Amino acid sequence: MGNGHIFSDKENFSLSDYVKPHKSGRENLGPELPVAIYRLLEYSLREELAQRLGKEEQIEIFRGAGFRAGTFFADHYLDLTLEFSDFIAQLQRKLEEMKIGVLRVEETDERTGKMVFTMSEDADCAGLPMLGETVCNYDEGFLAGLLTAYTKRPYSAVEVNCWATGDRVCRFQAAVQNKEG
Ligand SMILES: [Zn+2]
Repeated sequence: MGNGHIFSDKENFSLSDYVKPHKSGRENLGPELPVAIYRLLEYSLREELAQRLGKEEQIEIFRGAGFRAGTFFADHYLDLTLEFSDFIAQLQRKLEEMKIGVLRVEETDERTGKMVFTMSEDADCAGLPMLGETVCNYDEGFLAGLLTAYTKRPYSAVEVNCWATGDRVCRFQAAVQNKEG
């Protein structure tokens, strides 16, 4: 009580302290930023990590960070007690409201837990030129984090189509991780 954040032990800070601070501090500028600036952060970080650590490592870092973000998003913005179809409807609304993208479920297999999602107007890649590779590794982690938080099973997700591979939507295959795999 009363010991302002400058005295807090930074080891104890969590994502919540950065994402949902007790006041915005942006009384005039407000809570939004242009997509260009979001991408400037994302892609400059991507380049820097790839240059320092190599591409494989950069991809794993983006997936790992996305997973943390997806778990956080699920815990703070979603009702995880809903049934699957209501959960997905809620997720779609939230992703649109937050301007992350427009999510659709293409396939679900209740038996295996496999799912296929598409995301159009994705904040990370919609409109990018053909790069010949999928770039939404952060989203792969994000979806995996969301599904893991909701199902309590260890999900992973892989992007199979992307604006950057010449498609109009990003398509993700999600599956429960095989312990042996
Ligand atoms: Zn993509």
